[in-house]
Amino acid sequence: MQPILAFTNRVAPPWEMAVLQKLGGQIADCWARAEEAERRASEATDLAVRADHERAAKSWRHLARSYEFVESLERFLLDAERAKAAHARGRAICCPYCGRGMRLLGIEHELDSRDVFSIECIGCGHLEVIGAPTR
Ligand SMILES: [Zn+2]
Repeated sequence: MQPILAFTNRVAPPWEMAVLQKLGGQIADCWARAEEAERRASEATDLAVRADHERAAKSWRHLARSYEFVESLERFLLDAERAKAAHARGRAICCPYCGRGMRLLGIEHELDSRDVFSIECIGCGHLEVIGAPTR
């Protein structure tokens, strides 16, 4: 029995998640360090030491915001890349295993609210069942 997958609930590939997770970790680390520097500044009795910690906190906050900007840019570029790839494929549905075209086997009407499409890969014979709301 081959696995049945729906195309609609696409999950980002592992490398995309890795890039965003790494940035997310760096951002959290910067905010934690900024917080730590602020705490040290508030505890410092020496004015020069306090100023040093405040400067450090400001730098960590600046770096955190820079990483947040890079992260938002990264997300934008990944979305653009995905949209471009979808456009290049047109509306054709390709097999997730071998990349060849899929042919329609049948459409079933389900509960007046959903159409269920059964499609088969012309290359490897992989079967997909896709549910779509009735228009
Ligand atoms: Zn296939």
